[in-house]
Amino acid sequence: MSKTIAFIGLGNMGGPMSGNLVKAGHVVQGYDLSEAARRAAETQGVLTFQDLKEAVQGADAIITMLPNGPLVLDVWGQLAEIVPAGTILIDSSTIDVDSAIAAHELLTSKGCLTLDAPVSGGTGGAEAGSLTFMTGGSEAALQSGAPLLEPMAGRVVRCGSPGAGQAAKICNNMLLGISMIGACEAFALGEKLGLEHQALFDVISTSSGQCWSVNTNCPVPGPVPTSPANRAYQPGFAAALMLKDLRLAQQAALSRGAQTPLGAEAAQLYGMYDALDEKGSDFSGIISLLRGAADRASKPS
Ligand code: NAD
Repeated sequence: MSKTIAFIGLGNMGGPMSGNLVKAGHVVQGYDLSEAARRAAETQGVLTFQDLKEAVQGADAIITMLPNGPLVLDVWGQLAEIVPAGTILIDSSTIDVDSAIAAHELLTSKGCLTLDAPVSGGTGGAEAGSLTFMTGGSEAALQSGAPLLEPMAGRVVRCGSPGAGQAAKICNNMLLGISMIGACEAFALGEKLGLEHQALFDVISTSSGQCWSVNTNCPVPGPVPTSPANRAYQPGFAAALMLKDLRLAQQAALSRGAQTPLGAEAAQLYGMYDALDEKGSDFSGIISLLRGAADRASKPS
């Protein structure tokens, strides 16, 4: 059934996601601080507004897709003052677990239904409507929210109570960051040992080392033609976003007392790579940092 959905944050992800809601027959009222983002969303049939209050007027549901936790809390704090009880609010940004829980509380205390529903799948998944949504919130919120997510989703997974979607997202991305560094180390070592990229790929991708970082996003050019390595490491999933997620994982580990030594090391390495990388490269580009470190270590002083 057609609904009126307010969409706040029409950037690289929110733009195409809101467009898919329009294609599914919903009326979408969009709001973004950036005029360029509003103009781009209009070309996909989104009605845009220059004021948050006007954008959410008459909306059955509100979706936010914003850069970070403080911004989500700021926007949800403003929404808590204006939206009627019964409205469903979904935050699909990637933010820290504690801010996600605080955002739920701001709106459930006003009688609204709330979900944290971060996504995996990147801008390609946002355009194709094939994102995986990881949801946290009450069963009632999921019942109301899941049909709204469907036009943007390949899969909607219920992870648990408020904050559980963000928890699942940062656990997944911490593992992804660690596995990509492992994949890069394996290929960099293989190069030093004189192995062809294709030969090493043919072994790892069908053996016990197989993982998404090798089989789908292979960090060297050749074996997987669609991987960013074949287009000079143009993202894909930018290293800066991986760094953001690794830092969120470290923040969560610290606040809950979890031991994540490899996650901490991955955050350090991506911090170094992000500081050196001026092109906004895909996170698989970290292989250049690892090759460089090995080369420096082997040179006589
Ligand atoms: P983006 O920077 O392209 O878009 C964010 C948009 O929010 C911008 O257009 C900005 O103008 C707008 N904005 C900022 N503050 C605002 C406010 N107060 N009110 C209204 N609009 C505001 O970022 P993105 O790539 O679309 O990512 C959005 C979220 O999705 C982030 O949390 C990111 O970590 C997460 N994410 C991104 C990807 C990806 O591949 N890009 C993948 C998964 C998850």
